[in-house]
Amino acid sequence: MPNNTAIAALLPLLRERHSFLITSHARPDGDAIGSSLALMHLLEAMGKDVTVAFADPIPLIYQYLPGVDHIVHTLPAGIAECAILLECSSVERSGFTEIPATFTINIDHHKSGRPFASFNWIDPRACAVGAMLYDLFVASGLHITRAMATCLYTAVMTDTGSFTYTSTDASTFALAEHLVERGADANQIAQSVYFSNPASKIRLLGIALSNMRIEGEVAWSTVTLDEMARAGADAEDCEGIVNYLIGIAGIESAAFLRETISPSGVSEFRTSLRSKSEVDVAAVAEIFHGGGHRNASGCTLDGPLHSAIATVVSQLHIACRNRPSVTAMPVEVC
Ligand code: 5GP
Repeated sequence: MPNNTAIAALLPLLRERHSFLITSHARPDGDAIGSSLALMHLLEAMGKDVTVAFADPIPLIYQYLPGVDHIVHTLPAGIAECAILLECSSVERSGFTEIPATFTINIDHHKSGRPFASFNWIDPRACAVGAMLYDLFVASGLHITRAMATCLYTAVMTDTGSFTYTSTDASTFALAEHLVERGADANQIAQSVYFSNPASKIRLLGIALSNMRIEGEVAWSTVTLDEMARAGADAEDCEGIVNYLIGIAGIESAAFLRETISPSGVSEFRTSLRSKSEVDVAAVAEIFHGGGHRNASGCTLDGPLHSAIATVVSQLHIACRNRPSVTAMPVEVC
């Protein structure tokens, strides 16, 4: 569905309803949290009752976001008229087993997005759900406040790797310019997100980098629960480690595996995948029931560690081999 059509259909759906539940995916990132809070501010400006619920904690680096103290971690009693799920390919991806609402709206920009809701707006070309919401905010005609601008800017800045991924184009910079004009403090936001790391995160990074292995175009690294305990680190401290691996010259795909304990009490490995250019790691994640974007995706792998590594590394080699080669691209004949 073209974005203008989706927005034209969505605005009346929002205006007609009164009580909203907003949620996003487990282990939330900047787009999940920034977009959810931005939408909360928009709906409150429309006079709606809004609850924002996340299954998992909000990382410390996002605690500056306006409205973050309104986020709850259990679903409210009762049934909302409308639940809005952002960046989720399914209800389960939210970390909640069910969403108590009579009507559901799914807004997503992942390649692995699925139309599971009553109303679905999926745009895999969008650089962030925050950018899709920005278009909705502009179309709503409502005043974009400093709080909304701060949340949307955070969503877009984090999901574009600070305006560097291929999804960044002139419209992304136009959006950033407008949000800064509306009160988003670009320097303050970058300070909070990139320069406020706990020492435990840097200690863990040292361990992860010393565990790094390279095989051809593929790099990978791991941290176990013991290593996390040694660094005094938690799950939040693992965010972004994979980017150091994909940042190596000549590496086309990378994996970072972190040990967790499954609900049944056995070791499993949360895995972040990254790639460059045409190498499709969304397809790799989907083999293991995960998902994401072509160049950034994630999944959970069964242990033990050595077999999780062997399985994912062999799939990454296949993804590298299968990427469309430059010579196979259509050639324009003049
Ligand atoms: P990260 O490696 O930063 O956790 O995730 C990279 C991207 O993949 C994000 O856009 C994230 O939403 C998506 N992703 C990570 N894990 C999963 C998963 O298990 N399922 C799905 N559908 N998407 C995932």
